[in-house]
Amino acid sequence: MPGILYLVATPIGNLNDISPRVRSTLDSVDLILAEDTRVTIKLLNHLDIKKRMLSCHDFNEKSRLSLIKQFADSAQKIALVSDAGTPLISDPGSQIVQEAISCDMNIIPIPGPSACLLALIVSGLPCDRFVFEGFLPVKPKLLQERLEKLKNEERTIVLYEAPHRILKTLQALSNQLGDRDISIVRELTKKHEETVRGKISAVINKLSDDTTLGAKAIKKSADANRNNKKILGEYVLVIAGNKTASDLDRISQTELKNAIKQMLKQGKTLKTAVQDITQAYKLKRSEVYTLALGIQKQLNE
Ligand code: SAM
Repeated sequence: MPGILYLVATPIGNLNDISPRVRSTLDSVDLILAEDTRVTIKLLNHLDIKKRMLSCHDFNEKSRLSLIKQFADSAQKIALVSDAGTPLISDPGSQIVQEAISCDMNIIPIPGPSACLLALIVSGLPCDRFVFEGFLPVKPKLLQERLEKLKNEERTIVLYEAPHRILKTLQALSNQLGDRDISIVRELTKKHEETVRGKISAVINKLSDDTTLGAKAIKKSADANRNNKKILGEYVLVIAGNKTASDLDRISQTELKNAIKQMLKQGKTLKTAVQDITQAYKLKRSEVYTLALGIQKQLNE
């Protein structure tokens, strides 16, 4: 019998969100792998649990993989936790899960909060289809490239962001995606939980107005950043998808053009090529027709 790896979600602020199952799981394992043992010890003290604990963070996750094999071989149980929320979601743990899979370990998720889903459901934006992008790149060029890719995304977009970057990020979103609907939530499950909804431009104005709690926190955090102090406060941004993106935007234009070109070169008529492509890619006939007409023109030149 191989061991068990439990992926345990922990509270993102409110300790009352600890479920009996989280408690009993943490109490039952042989080892807890924690992103930061100094954070998790507070949780364990609150639960009155004493356990062997080792750190497992972005910089040492690889070195912990041998432990997984060892625990699998001796049929022991490990719990993986991050500082807050669901492990692996913008947090370490994916290499541990990969290793556990290759060791044939039983992997059991123990549910609990994740800021992503909570922010999504209070946003008022469509929740039936969404994309989680985690943290956007900080480097301007990479940020621009990422936003360029997200521009035509039709699904609701969920982003994590540090408070000192919120205003910068909102500006970048507004510049590249346009003045969309957005919902920003901060301090989920905590005393000062707050959600601000509206167009990106209106939210930027709102956050610049000192009366909102968020604005105070953002300012404080920006000052703290300037003075190299630890930045507190947690924010999630939920942005409306692009409702105007045409069906053609979903699909690689190069792939589509090549497919049409090939059909025309094979001797198919424009009408048949358009019909076949429309069906294969589930696109609007009129859009494919315009594209195909251009390609036919090029081929005939
Ligand atoms: N694994 C975590 C989860 O499941 O939500 C996320 C970890 S990620 C390193 C931390 C980011 O999550 C924060 O910068 C913030 O964007 C978001 N976050 C975490 N807790 C939050 C809270 N209580 N309120 C709002 N956002 C939160």
